[in-house]
Amino acid sequence: MKLVFATNNLNKLAEVQKMLPNSIELLSLKDIHCFDDIEETATTLDGNAKIKANHITQKFGFNCFADDTGLEVESLDGQPGVYSARYAGASANSEDNMQKLLIELNKNKNENKSEKQNRKAQFRTSICLNLNGQQFLFNGICKGEILTEKQGEKGFGYDPIFQPEGFQKSFAQMTSEEKNTISHRGLAIKKLIEFLKANA
Ligand code: IMP
Repeated sequence: MKLVFATNNLNKLAEVQKMLPNSIELLSLKDIHCFDDIEETATTLDGNAKIKANHITQKFGFNCFADDTGLEVESLDGQPGVYSARYAGASANSEDNMQKLLIELNKNKNENKSEKQNRKAQFRTSICLNLNGQQFLFNGICKGEILTEKQGEKGFGYDPIFQPEGFQKSFAQMTSEEKNTISHRGLAIKKLIEFLKANA
């Protein structure tokens, strides 16, 4: 069976293909000649994952899955959440986004709340799968806290300021294998793979 992963990130694609049974052939957006700029206009991660998966299934007719991830900070009412990629503005890079988050958390300090409470956060990945006319959602969550300053050089996005629960180092100080076993995306993908093995 052919299955589209609505991404152009070849690292993500290879990672998932390795975990799938040989009967499932994973295709990228480029493989199906989709060069559309799919606008992520929803206000939730599930909503954006659905928009991307539905675009492919409706326009190209393929079974497809799409993912969307956000960093949710409890004391900021779940922000940056669905806006994680553009928290500091439409053309912001990871550095700008991390600086904005650290500033917001400093502004948010409050004598009624412990610093640990102020910094509680989680990464969440939503995956939407369109399979043979039905739709399924899978979520992966990694709980942790926002550090006061950047630590480590690896990874991407908010990795240098996120420390997962039970660890004394940031995501940016972990190898990708180490991060994948506990990460939001790793957990959501694991659920997707188990489902596909049983149902596809
Ligand atoms: P996407 O949905 O995977 O494109 O993620 C949206 C944004 O969330 C990215 O641009 C990053 O800023 C952030 N993000 C997603 N996954 C991670 C992660 O594993 N570590 C750090 N930041 C992430």
